[in-house]
Parts: sequence; structure tokens; C-alpha cells
Amino acid sequence: MTKNAGCEPINNSRLFLYSLRYFSILFLLTINFSSKADTLTLPEFKEGTLGNYLHYFQETNARLALNEAQQKFYQSNVNKGSSHSISLGIDVAPVWMKFTVNNTSELAESYRLSVETPWLDYIDTWLVHEGNVIQHIQGGDAYPYEQRPMPYRFYAFEHSFAPGKTEVFYRIETKGPMAIPIHYSTVQNAINRDIASGYQYGFLYGIMLALALYNLVLYVFIRQKEYGLYSLYLIGFVLNSLSYTGQLHTVFTYDFGPYFQDWLDIFLMITYSVAGLHFARLLLKTKYYALKLDQFVVRTTIFIPAGMVIGFVFDQLFFSMVLAFLLNTCFVILFIALGIRALMADKPFALIFILSSVTAAICITISTLAVAGFLVPYNGYTFKAIEVGMAFEAVLLAVILARQFRMAKLDKIIAETYARTDALTQLNNRRGFQELTQPIWQGIIRSKRDAAIVLLDIDFFKRFNDQYGHEIGDKVLIAVAQCIKETARKGDIFARWGGEEFILFLPETSENQAYLQAERIRAAIERLEIQVIKLPLSVTASLGIAGTSDGYFQNEPLSLSALEPMINSADRALYVAKQKGKNQVCPSK
Ligand code: GH3
Ligand code: MG
Ligand code: MG
Repeated sequence: MTKNAGCEPINNSRLFLYSLRYFSILFLLTINFSSKADTLTLPEFKEGTLGNYLHYFQETNARLALNEAQQKFYQSNVNKGSSHSISLGIDVAPVWMKFTVNNTSELAESYRLSVETPWLDYIDTWLVHEGNVIQHIQGGDAYPYEQRPMPYRFYAFEHSFAPGKTEVFYRIETKGPMAIPIHYSTVQNAINRDIASGYQYGFLYGIMLALALYNLVLYVFIRQKEYGLYSLYLIGFVLNSLSYTGQLHTVFTYDFGPYFQDWLDIFLMITYSVAGLHFARLLLKTKYYALKLDQFVVRTTIFIPAGMVIGFVFDQLFFSMVLAFLLNTCFVILFIALGIRALMADKPFALIFILSSVTAAICITISTLAVAGFLVPYNGYTFKAIEVGMAFEAVLLAVILARQFRMAKLDKIIAETYARTDALTQLNNRRGFQELTQPIWQGIIRSKRDAAIVLLDIDFFKRFNDQYGHEIGDKVLIAVAQCIKETARKGDIFARWGGEEFILFLPETSENQAYLQAERIRAAIERLEIQVIKLPLSVTASLGIAGTSDGYFQNEPLSLSALEPMINSADRALYVAKQKGKNQVCPSK
């Protein structure tokens, strides 16, 4: 019997089974009831899990035949199921189970019986009606798909229970987790349940795949690793879920054989864990403040998969499977640990990250406990809690990515604004001035309209610095900048040109009009009263003007590069103003 942990589920929940197995066994030992049979009565019983109706024991030595098992059920004390699902741990001895169906009606009743963990290797069922074995059904994932009793993702069959008592015996053998939730329902209910389940999975996978695809597209265009890893994490999880719910192997890989499925399962199991951990590292940037944890995560995601590959090379499935379980436990713990470290370092999004990962962990635990038949009832909702938790986590993580995207965009806008703004006066700097004037200047050339440049330089500025200190000098610069801003007309572009020099670009303005405007600014500066240690300080400035109507430009057609000569021309005019005694406006003519 080479078949081993077969369709091992690919998920953290299986991991919990390890630790839960001891508790489950202890728990079951304490409730070793008498073998008095509970009987399911038809047609009243329509649907439910059968844990509570089951009697069971485990084989101790050789494989028992049906009649030997029957004797054991009738003659000795066996265990009585006490919850919705029976769970006995991983790689345990084969288990026998029995329950009785009593159809009290006159008609036969059709029911479906399914064992709802898809990884159980060998399952045999015998139906014994009034002492006669009427049917022996064989299945389990060790059988090729087409040889199973029903073309279904779980071991299931339908049976029409004749009036009277039918005893149902199960023998289950598996190397994987012995978790046995047996579901029993009328055929019509089973079909309705499948349809509902299809919609539920479709919805949950839909959310995750849509987010995965969207982030994959983002990754392709932006090349930021977080998006790619997040996408891989989600796709990996969906594949993992498809696999441990039996859907992948039913629809896509049914003819690949159980050996291929086993290996595929455990490698899918680690794909999403590895992608998830690296995604969390990058998202939270843990290497900048939690280097040790970050490196531990990196090593975990290298060494464990490497060990699994070695297991693969030497064909040691069980060894690799244990490593996969180990990585999945690490995944849940490290994911939360990364979040906690981020929170301690006061990182943005840490709280929402923890919220999402803890929620996912709780949902994983709920599903695990349900499958293990421990504390939580097994039903369609508790079994799917994993997918619900992961979809919830996926949405929250998408929120984090979106907000991070927005923050990066804001940072960029802020950086660009800074690059165009003078830090002291908050006016445009040279670069900002050039960016703003270029398009307007082009329009002016095209339509042959007027424009003028005014250059302004504060008089005797050095004295402020020398007499009162640099800080007062700064204050004067800020006051003059504010004054220029307030005096400027709508459409005028002004900037700090450097030091204590300012520039104005006046569109739609003849040189005469520019003169009046410059004079207005000069007068406003002269009126300024800057308070320094309660003494008013007076400031004056000299201004030079050049314009398109200037004779200098009239003879040649204006060109894009003509703005610079115009600025030089204004600079010469400014020089003249200084020469003539400062505190005045001088045109370039
Ligand atoms: P003039 O009347 O001929 O223009 O003389 P001035 O003293 O105004 O001109 P000068 O070019 O000799 O001196 C300008 C000074 O401005 C020199 C420099 O230390 C100072 N300065 C340049 N940038 C700043 C600044 O951002 N803050 C302060 N406080 N001073 C600055
Ligand atoms: Mg100067
Ligand atoms: Mg000066």
C-alpha cells in the first residue's frame, strides 16, 4: 500500500489538526459511551451530519473483514460519536464506523451519504438490510476518478433505503488527517446544497480572483513587487482551496492520478504561504525596523521549500508534507508577528493588517475545529469559514495597497510642488517660473500680443543681514514676497529669481502698462513697515523693465528663445535704476 497522505489538504487548518489530534483523542476517551445504537428515523430525518449517530473503533492489528467488525460492534464497547464530525489525528489506524437507518414509511427513501473531506484514501461502505449485505461500495481518492461511486468531489453515493432497518458500516483508511464529517441528506436537498455551495464558492473565489487579476495588471505596468506577490498569494490560495475542497482534482486534474495530486497539493500549499509572507514583508517594509524577524521570514521561505524539493527528489511525500504543514503554521504565526512588529514601529496600515490577518486566522481555526469535530459544529458555513476569512483579508489588504498607492501619489505631488517652490518665500522658484511662463509665452508669440518682464532687487539688503542678522533678512524677504503677491494682478506670474531678486512676467501688458505696474509695486514696498524689535524698518527696491514693444525686439520676429534676452534686458534696466540712486523703476529703452 504505497498510497500515503494522499490528497492532503493544503491549508493551515490541516496543521491545526496536528495539535488538535491529542485533544480530540483525549476528549473522545472521556466520552466512551456504551454501544447502545442511536437510530436515524426516516422519513423524518431530512438532512444533517451523522457524528452523533456513529459508533466507531480503530483496527488494532490486521485488517478486519466485515463480519469481524460486526462482531466487535455487537459484542464489545466501542466509541460513540459525540459531535458532528469524528477526527482522530494524522496517519492513524483505519477506523470502522456504524450507524442504523430505520425507514418507518412504506416506501423506499432516496438519500445521499457523503464523506466531506476529499483526501481520505480508501473508503468502504456496506449496507446491511435485515441481516443481509445488500451493497458494498468502494471509493476514496486512491481510486481513479471514474471508478468512484459518484462523479463527485467527495466520496458519496446515493441509496434508496427500503422500509425497515438498514445498518451502514464504514471502513476508512488514510495516511492523511482522519477527519470524517459524514453528511446525510435527501437527494433533492443534496442537489440544492451543491448548487448553493457552487454560488458561495463562486462568489468567494470571484472576489479573490478579481483582486488578484487587478493587482497582476498593476504589477505588469508599475513593476512594484507588492502587487505581483499579492496577486500570487490570492491565486495560490484559490488553487489551494480548490484542491483541499476536492474541486481542482474533480474538474481539472482528475486523470493525473493520486501521486501527481499529492505532490501538487503540498506545493500549492506552500506557494501561497511563501507569496503571502513576502508580500507582508514588502508591504510593511519590515527590513527597515525588524531586520531579524524579516530575515527569519526570508530563511523560512527558502529552507522549508528547499527541504520539500529534496523530499520530492527522494520521493518522500510524508517528509515533504510535514514540512508543508510546518510552513503553513509558520505562515499564520509570522503573518501576525510581522503585523505586530509593524504596529510597534508605528507603521501606517499595521492595525488594519493585523485586523485582517487575525480575522483570517480565526476563520481558519473555525474551519479546522469544525472539520475536527471539536467545539464548532460542522456545516457548510463553518467549513467555508476559511474562504470567507481569506476573502475578507484579501479585501482589507487591497484597501491597504490602494491607500499606499494614494500615499505614494501624494508624496510625488508634494515632491513636485517642492521642486517648483522657493522654501523661504513660498513663491515660485526659477524652475516653477519657467514652467509657468513657457506655455503663456508660446501663446503670446503665436498671437503677437504684448508681454513684459520686471526684475526687482531689494536695495541695500546686505545691511539688514549685517545689522540685524540673517533671520531679520529672511523676514524682509518674506515681507517683500508677500507684497509682490498682493500687488500682482490676476495672470501675472512672479517668482523669487535668487537672493534678494524677484521677477515678474506680465502677459497682455505693454511696456507703459508694465511701468505703471512696477511703480505700484515699488511704492507698495516703500510703504512696507517691517517690525524689528518694535522698530519699524523701511525697505525699498529698484526695478528694471523690458517688454515686447521694446525697440530692442521690434525689429526681429519674436521667438521662443526671446524670453531670455528680454530678462537680460530687464536686468540691464535694473542696473541703471541702481546707478541712478535706487528705489526707482527704469525701463530698458
Ligand atoms: P544693492 O542695493 O546694490 O542691491 O545691494 P545689496 O546689499 O542689496 O546687494 P548684494 O548683492 O550686495 O547683497 C545681497 C545679499 O543678500 C547677500 C546675501 O548674503 C543676502 N542673501 C541672499 N539670499 C539670502 C537669504 O535667503 N536670506 C538672507 N537673510 N540673506 C540672503
Ligand atoms: Mg542683488
Ligand atoms: Mg540688493
